[in-house]
Amino acid sequence: MKAPLRLFLPLFLVFLLTQCLRANEEESFTKERKRMVEEQIEERGVVDKQVLRAMETVPRHLFIPENMRAYSYLDTPLPIGSGQTISQPYIVAFMTEVLTLKKGDKVLEIGTGSGYQAAILSLIVREVHTMEIKRDLAKRAREILQRLGYVNVTVYAGDGYLGLPGEAPFDAIMITAATPEIPPALLDQLGPGGRMVVPVGQPSRTQSLTLITRKSTGEISKEELAPVLFVPLTRD
Ligand code: SAH
Repeated sequence: MKAPLRLFLPLFLVFLLTQCLRANEEESFTKERKRMVEEQIEERGVVDKQVLRAMETVPRHLFIPENMRAYSYLDTPLPIGSGQTISQPYIVAFMTEVLTLKKGDKVLEIGTGSGYQAAILSLIVREVHTMEIKRDLAKRAREILQRLGYVNVTVYAGDGYLGLPGEAPFDAIMITAATPEIPPALLDQLGPGGRMVVPVGQPSRTQSLTLITRKSTGEISKEELAPVLFVPLTRD
């Protein structure tokens, strides 16, 4: 065998092997994701087809730090660094479903975290704007969303308490951090007929996941949906 070939062949075989292993791993994550949708999400009563499809499509494991990746599809929230967490899959699906989203909607998310919830929203609606107060998380989420091709998501590093007045009104707003009171600026940025979902309550106690609807007359209605536990909405 010629010298260059002797060098090249083992390298090529190693490359082939890693590609095979990676394909194998992706295939088993796809299976786990399908099972997650059936057992954790449909089983608990989520029926919206577009939500189920998005949950089955978005590779949750790629939004989770590498050392935790094996747990991606378990029925639990997981740490994502900087003391923050990615929500349990069912909570992501439930919060998305209650917003009764339509294809043309423009959505604001407060608390980008890993970027996973934004990716789910982006498969359902026209435009997603998401704000994250921790710069390192905002940067990481922006990179992964870009790399995976979620082109209709814009990540903003900043305090979501004030929302994005320049982009308002929004058809739907999702707050993925707990707050004792609904930030008034965010209520103002909810358009007529708009829906907002938010965990209301003190941090480190059970909060009440609340759905707020602005009727076309401008009137606001509130409905408490379920007890939840979220990290707090903080201020700069
Ligand atoms: N939706 C995320 C999980 C959210 S965890 C996901 O899919 O992974 C809550 C996030 O809210 C944390 O990353 C936290 O840093 C962020 N956060 C807390 N207060 C905030 C604020 N005032 N504005 C924007 N983000 C905030």
